[in-house]
Amino acid sequence: MREGIRPADPAADTPPEDTRPAEDTRPGEARSYLVARNLPHFWCPGCGNGVILAAVARAFARLGLDRTETVVVTGIGCFGRADDYLDVNAVHGTHGRALAIATGIKAVNPALRVVALMGDGDCATIGGNHFLHACRRNLTITAVVANNLNYGMTGGQYSGTTPAGSTTSTSPLGHAEEGFDLCRVAAAAGAMYVARTTVYHVHLLDRYLEAALTHPGFSLVEVMSSCPVYFGRYNRLGGPVEMMEHWRQVAVPLERFRQLPEGEQRGRVAVGVFQDRAGIPFEERYWAVQQAARGTGAREVSER
Ligand code: SF4
Repeated sequence: MREGIRPADPAADTPPEDTRPAEDTRPGEARSYLVARNLPHFWCPGCGNGVILAAVARAFARLGLDRTETVVVTGIGCFGRADDYLDVNAVHGTHGRALAIATGIKAVNPALRVVALMGDGDCATIGGNHFLHACRRNLTITAVVANNLNYGMTGGQYSGTTPAGSTTSTSPLGHAEEGFDLCRVAAAAGAMYVARTTVYHVHLLDRYLEAALTHPGFSLVEVMSSCPVYFGRYNRLGGPVEMMEHWRQVAVPLERFRQLPEGEQRGRVAVGVFQDRAGIPFEERYWAVQQAARGTGAREVSER
Protein backbone atom coordinates (compact mmCIF):
# COMPACT_ATOMS: atom_id res chain seq x y z
CA MET A 1 0.00 0.00 0.00
CA ARG A 2 1.57 3.29 -1.00
CA GLU A 3 0.99 6.81 0.23
CA GLY A 4 -1.96 7.60 -2.07
CA ILE A 5 -4.32 5.07 -0.56
CA ARG A 6 -4.46 5.12 3.17
CA PRO A 7 -5.51 1.88 4.83
CA ALA A 8 -8.69 1.82 6.81
CA ASP A 9 -8.34 3.75 10.06
CA PRO A 10 -11.07 3.14 12.64
CA ALA A 11 -10.08 6.40 14.35
CA ALA A 12 -11.41 8.32 11.36
CA ASP A 13 -14.82 6.70 11.64
CA THR A 14 -16.89 9.75 12.48
CA PRO A 15 -19.92 10.55 10.36
CA PRO A 16 -19.19 13.81 8.58
CA GLU A 17 -21.35 16.70 9.60
CA ASP A 18 -25.06 16.41 10.05
CA THR A 19 -26.40 12.91 9.46
CA ARG A 20 -30.08 13.73 9.24
CA PRO A 21 -31.57 12.09 6.15
CA ALA A 22 -32.68 14.38 3.37
CA GLU A 23 -36.38 14.94 3.06
CA ASP A 24 -38.16 11.81 2.03
CA THR A 25 -38.96 11.13 -1.58
CA ARG A 26 -41.46 8.51 -2.49
CA PRO A 27 -39.61 5.85 -4.48
CA GLY A 28 -42.17 5.96 -7.27
CA GLU A 29 -41.50 9.65 -7.84
CA ALA A 30 -37.77 9.13 -8.21
CA ARG A 31 -38.33 6.11 -10.44
CA SER A 32 -40.44 8.24 -12.76
CA TYR A 33 -37.22 10.07 -13.72
CA LEU A 34 -35.57 6.80 -14.78
CA VAL A 35 -35.96 5.12 -18.18
CA ALA A 36 -37.17 1.69 -17.07
CA ARG A 37 -36.68 0.07 -20.47
CA ASN A 38 -32.93 0.80 -20.30
CA LEU A 39 -32.50 -0.89 -16.92
CA PRO A 40 -30.67 -2.78 -15.55
CA HIS A 41 -27.80 -0.38 -16.10
CA PHE A 42 -24.56 -1.46 -17.74
CA TRP A 43 -22.27 -0.63 -14.79
CA CYS A 44 -20.34 -3.41 -13.04
CA PRO A 45 -21.74 -4.88 -9.81
CA GLY A 46 -20.59 -2.73 -6.91
CA CYS A 47 -19.89 0.35 -9.05
CA GLY A 48 -20.70 3.60 -7.26
CA ASN A 49 -22.34 5.11 -10.32
CA GLY A 50 -25.72 3.54 -9.55
CA VAL A 51 -25.75 5.21 -6.13
CA ILE A 52 -25.16 8.60 -7.74
CA LEU A 53 -27.72 8.05 -10.50
CA ALA A 54 -30.37 7.14 -7.91
CA ALA A 55 -29.52 10.25 -5.88
CA VAL A 56 -29.84 12.44 -8.99
CA ALA A 57 -33.27 10.92 -9.73
CA ARG A 58 -34.32 11.50 -6.11
CA ALA A 59 -33.16 15.11 -6.26
CA PHE A 60 -35.07 15.68 -9.50
CA ALA A 61 -38.17 14.18 -7.86
CA ARG A 62 -37.85 16.20 -4.64
CA LEU A 63 -37.55 19.40 -6.66
CA GLY A 64 -40.33 18.29 -9.00
CA LEU A 65 -38.28 19.19 -12.07
CA ASP A 66 -40.16 19.62 -15.30
CA ARG A 67 -38.52 17.00 -17.52
CA THR A 68 -39.14 19.08 -20.63
CA GLU A 69 -37.25 22.02 -19.05
CA THR A 70 -34.35 19.91 -17.76
CA VAL A 71 -31.32 18.91 -19.83
CA VAL A 72 -28.72 16.38 -18.77
CA VAL A 73 -25.41 16.58 -20.64
CA THR A 74 -22.75 13.89 -20.53
CA GLY A 75 -19.41 13.21 -22.18
CA ILE A 76 -17.67 9.83 -22.37
CA GLY A 77 -16.76 7.31 -19.71
CA CYS A 78 -18.62 4.97 -17.38
CA PHE A 79 -20.65 7.74 -15.72
CA GLY A 80 -21.09 9.33 -19.13
CA ARG A 81 -23.70 6.64 -19.71
CA ALA A 82 -25.92 8.11 -16.97
CA ASP A 83 -28.00 10.06 -19.47
CA ASP A 84 -29.26 6.75 -20.93
CA TYR A 85 -31.21 6.16 -17.74
CA LEU A 86 -32.70 9.59 -16.99
CA ASP A 87 -36.07 10.53 -18.41
CA VAL A 88 -35.32 14.18 -19.19
CA ASN A 89 -33.83 15.87 -22.24
CA ALA A 90 -30.34 14.52 -22.78
CA VAL A 91 -27.26 15.21 -24.88
CA HIS A 92 -24.52 12.59 -25.00
CA GLY A 93 -21.46 14.55 -26.05
CA THR A 94 -17.83 13.90 -26.82
CA HIS A 95 -15.10 13.19 -24.33
CA GLY A 96 -14.35 16.12 -22.03
CA ARG A 97 -16.88 18.39 -23.70
CA ALA A 98 -19.95 18.00 -21.50
CA LEU A 99 -19.45 21.43 -19.93
CA ALA A 100 -18.80 23.10 -23.28
CA ILE A 101 -22.09 21.71 -24.59
CA ALA A 102 -23.90 22.58 -21.35
CA THR A 103 -22.56 26.13 -21.63
CA GLY A 104 -23.98 26.51 -25.14
CA ILE A 105 -27.38 25.17 -24.10
CA LYS A 106 -27.67 27.42 -21.06
CA ALA A 107 -26.41 30.51 -22.88
CA VAL A 108 -28.98 30.08 -25.64
CA ASN A 109 -31.88 29.22 -23.35
CA PRO A 110 -31.32 30.37 -19.74
CA ALA A 111 -34.76 29.07 -18.75
CA LEU A 112 -33.52 25.48 -18.97
CA ARG A 113 -32.09 23.67 -15.97
CA VAL A 114 -28.82 22.19 -17.19
CA VAL A 115 -27.01 19.36 -15.40
CA ALA A 116 -23.65 17.95 -16.53
CA LEU A 117 -22.89 14.40 -15.37
CA MET A 118 -19.21 13.48 -15.70
CA GLY A 119 -16.48 11.22 -14.41
CA ASP A 120 -13.09 12.49 -13.29
CA GLY A 121 -11.51 11.57 -16.63
CA ASP A 122 -14.19 13.45 -18.52
CA CYS A 123 -14.33 16.52 -16.26
CA ALA A 124 -10.89 17.00 -14.75
CA THR A 125 -8.57 15.38 -17.26
CA ILE A 126 -9.72 15.50 -20.89
CA GLY A 127 -12.11 18.34 -20.06
CA GLY A 128 -9.96 20.17 -17.50
CA ASN A 129 -9.87 23.45 -19.35
CA HIS A 130 -13.64 23.50 -19.89
CA PHE A 131 -14.07 22.79 -16.19
CA LEU A 132 -11.90 25.74 -15.14
CA HIS A 133 -13.72 28.14 -17.40
CA ALA A 134 -17.18 26.87 -16.46
CA CYS A 135 -16.31 27.61 -12.81
CA ARG A 136 -14.97 31.03 -13.70
CA ARG A 137 -17.80 31.94 -16.08
CA ASN A 138 -20.53 30.96 -13.61
CA LEU A 139 -23.44 30.04 -15.79
CA THR A 140 -26.13 28.35 -13.72
CA ILE A 141 -25.10 24.77 -14.50
CA THR A 142 -24.87 21.93 -11.99
CA ALA A 143 -21.91 19.60 -12.49
CA VAL A 144 -22.03 16.20 -10.80
CA VAL A 145 -18.68 14.42 -10.93
CA ALA A 146 -18.36 10.72 -10.12
CA ASN A 147 -14.72 10.60 -9.08
CA ASN A 148 -13.53 6.99 -9.16
CA LEU A 149 -9.88 8.10 -9.43
CA ASN A 150 -9.23 6.40 -12.77
CA TYR A 151 -10.46 5.83 -16.32
CA GLY A 152 -12.68 2.82 -15.66
CA MET A 153 -14.23 2.45 -19.10
CA THR A 154 -10.94 2.07 -20.93
CA GLY A 155 -9.13 -0.22 -18.53
CA GLY A 156 -8.15 1.61 -15.36
CA GLN A 157 -5.58 4.14 -16.57
CA TYR A 158 -4.67 6.99 -14.21
CA SER A 159 -6.62 10.23 -14.49
CA GLY A 160 -6.13 13.81 -13.31
CA THR A 161 -7.44 12.95 -9.85
CA THR A 162 -5.52 9.70 -9.23
CA PRO A 163 -3.63 10.14 -5.94
CA ALA A 164 0.17 9.99 -5.99
CA GLY A 165 1.43 6.52 -5.26
CA SER A 166 -1.70 4.71 -6.47
CA THR A 167 -1.43 1.68 -8.70
CA THR A 168 -3.27 1.83 -12.01
CA SER A 169 -2.88 0.04 -15.33
CA THR A 170 -0.60 2.87 -16.50
CA SER A 171 1.21 3.35 -13.19
CA PRO A 172 1.94 -0.20 -12.07
CA LEU A 173 4.83 0.92 -9.86
CA GLY A 174 2.93 3.82 -8.25
CA HIS A 175 1.55 7.01 -9.78
CA ALA A 176 4.21 9.73 -9.82
CA GLU A 177 1.87 12.75 -10.04
CA GLU A 178 -0.35 14.43 -7.46
CA GLY A 179 -4.06 14.34 -8.30
CA PHE A 180 -6.27 17.42 -8.55
CA ASP A 181 -8.41 18.33 -5.58
CA LEU A 182 -11.43 19.16 -7.72
CA CYS A 183 -13.30 21.07 -5.04
CA ARG A 184 -10.38 23.32 -4.18
CA VAL A 185 -9.79 23.96 -7.87
CA ALA A 186 -13.46 24.80 -8.46
CA ALA A 187 -13.65 27.10 -5.43
CA ALA A 188 -10.46 28.93 -6.47
CA ALA A 189 -11.75 29.29 -10.03
CA GLY A 190 -14.91 31.03 -8.78
CA ALA A 191 -17.70 28.44 -8.73
CA MET A 192 -20.58 29.58 -6.53
CA TYR A 193 -21.43 26.28 -4.84
CA VAL A 194 -18.90 23.49 -4.30
CA ALA A 195 -19.38 20.35 -2.19
CA ARG A 196 -17.90 16.89 -1.89
CA THR A 197 -19.20 13.65 -0.45
CA THR A 198 -18.82 9.92 -1.10
CA VAL A 199 -21.11 7.15 -2.31
CA TYR A 200 -21.23 5.90 1.28
CA HIS A 201 -22.52 9.24 2.64
CA VAL A 202 -25.77 9.23 0.71
CA HIS A 203 -27.54 11.55 3.14
CA LEU A 204 -24.99 14.24 2.31
CA LEU A 205 -25.20 13.45 -1.39
CA ASP A 206 -28.97 14.03 -1.34
CA ARG A 207 -28.58 17.32 0.45
CA TYR A 208 -25.71 18.64 -1.65
CA LEU A 209 -27.45 17.76 -4.91
CA GLU A 210 -30.56 19.63 -3.87
CA ALA A 211 -28.51 22.66 -2.80
CA ALA A 212 -26.52 22.62 -6.04
CA LEU A 213 -29.59 22.28 -8.24
CA THR A 214 -31.20 25.33 -6.64
CA HIS A 215 -28.09 27.52 -6.44
CA PRO A 216 -27.57 30.38 -8.91
CA GLY A 217 -24.29 30.20 -10.80
CA PHE A 218 -22.03 27.23 -11.38
CA SER A 219 -22.35 24.45 -8.83
CA LEU A 220 -20.27 21.31 -8.36
CA VAL A 221 -21.01 18.16 -6.39
CA GLU A 222 -18.04 15.82 -6.41
CA VAL A 223 -18.81 12.28 -5.31
CA MET A 224 -15.97 9.92 -4.43
CA SER A 225 -17.09 6.74 -6.13
CA SER A 226 -16.16 3.07 -6.06
CA CYS A 227 -14.61 1.32 -9.06
CA PRO A 228 -13.94 -2.11 -7.57
CA VAL A 229 -13.12 -3.60 -10.96
CA TYR A 230 -10.08 -1.43 -11.63
CA PHE A 231 -9.10 1.06 -8.94
CA GLY A 232 -10.18 -1.16 -6.07
CA ARG A 233 -8.49 -4.25 -7.46
CA TYR A 234 -5.22 -2.53 -8.43
CA ASN A 235 -4.97 -0.93 -4.98
CA ARG A 236 -6.12 -3.95 -3.00
CA LEU A 237 -9.08 -2.10 -1.56
CA GLY A 238 -11.25 -5.19 -1.73
CA GLY A 239 -14.65 -5.68 -3.34
CA PRO A 240 -17.73 -3.44 -3.42
CA VAL A 241 -18.48 -3.75 0.31
CA GLU A 242 -14.89 -3.09 1.35
CA MET A 243 -14.75 -0.08 -0.96
CA MET A 244 -17.83 1.35 0.72
CA GLU A 245 -16.13 0.76 4.04
CA HIS A 246 -13.05 2.51 2.69
CA TRP A 247 -15.04 5.67 1.92
CA ARG A 248 -16.64 5.57 5.34
CA GLN A 249 -13.28 5.42 7.01
CA VAL A 250 -11.26 7.93 4.99
CA ALA A 251 -13.95 10.66 4.92
CA VAL A 252 -13.32 13.54 7.32
CA PRO A 253 -15.55 16.60 7.78
CA LEU A 254 -13.99 19.57 6.02
CA GLU A 255 -13.43 21.69 9.13
CA ARG A 256 -11.69 18.85 10.93
CA PHE A 257 -9.68 18.03 7.81
CA ARG A 258 -8.35 21.61 7.69
CA GLN A 259 -7.04 21.27 11.23
CA LEU A 260 -5.09 18.09 10.50
CA PRO A 261 -1.31 18.33 9.95
CA GLU A 262 -0.44 17.92 6.26
CA GLY A 263 0.91 14.42 6.79
CA GLU A 264 -2.39 13.37 8.34
CA GLN A 265 -4.43 14.84 5.49
CA ARG A 266 -2.76 12.58 2.96
CA GLY A 267 -4.98 9.68 2.03
CA ARG A 268 -8.05 11.20 3.68
CA VAL A 269 -11.00 12.76 1.87
CA ALA A 270 -12.40 16.09 3.06
CA VAL A 271 -16.18 15.98 2.90
CA GLY A 272 -18.36 19.06 3.13
CA VAL A 273 -19.28 22.37 1.50
CA PHE A 274 -16.17 24.11 0.19
CA GLN A 275 -17.89 27.18 -1.20
CA ASP A 276 -21.37 28.68 -1.01
CA ARG A 277 -21.43 32.26 -2.16
CA ALA A 278 -23.75 34.76 -3.77
CA GLY A 279 -23.04 36.45 -7.06
CA ILE A 280 -24.45 37.26 -10.46
CA PRO A 281 -24.60 34.26 -12.76
CA PHE A 282 -23.25 34.65 -16.26
CA GLU A 283 -26.66 34.40 -17.96
CA GLU A 284 -27.76 37.63 -16.25
CA ARG A 285 -24.62 39.47 -17.31
CA TYR A 286 -24.94 38.05 -20.82
CA TRP A 287 -28.57 39.12 -21.01
CA ALA A 288 -27.59 42.67 -19.99
CA VAL A 289 -24.96 42.74 -22.75
CA GLN A 290 -27.52 41.50 -25.27
CA GLN A 291 -29.97 44.19 -24.18
CA ALA A 292 -27.27 46.82 -24.50
CA ALA A 293 -26.38 45.57 -27.97
CA ARG A 294 -30.03 45.93 -28.99
CA GLY A 295 -30.20 49.37 -27.40
CA THR A 296 -33.01 48.20 -25.13
CA GLY A 297 -31.35 48.26 -21.75
CA ALA A 298 -28.46 49.28 -19.59
CA ARG A 299 -25.31 47.20 -19.80
CA GLU A 300 -24.49 47.34 -16.11
CA VAL A 301 -25.69 44.72 -13.70
CA SER A 302 -25.42 45.46 -10.02
CA GLU A 303 -23.11 43.29 -7.93
CA ARG A 304 -24.58 41.13 -5.15
S1 SF4 B 1 -15.18 -0.08 -14.78
FE1 SF4 B 1 -15.33 0.80 -12.71
S2 SF4 B 1 -16.39 2.79 -12.96
FE2 SF4 B 1 -16.70 1.57 -14.85
S3 SF4 B 1 -18.68 0.53 -14.54
FE3 SF4 B 1 -17.07 -0.89 -13.87
S4 SF4 B 1 -16.84 -0.51 -11.65
FE4 SF4 B 1 -17.96 1.23 -12.54
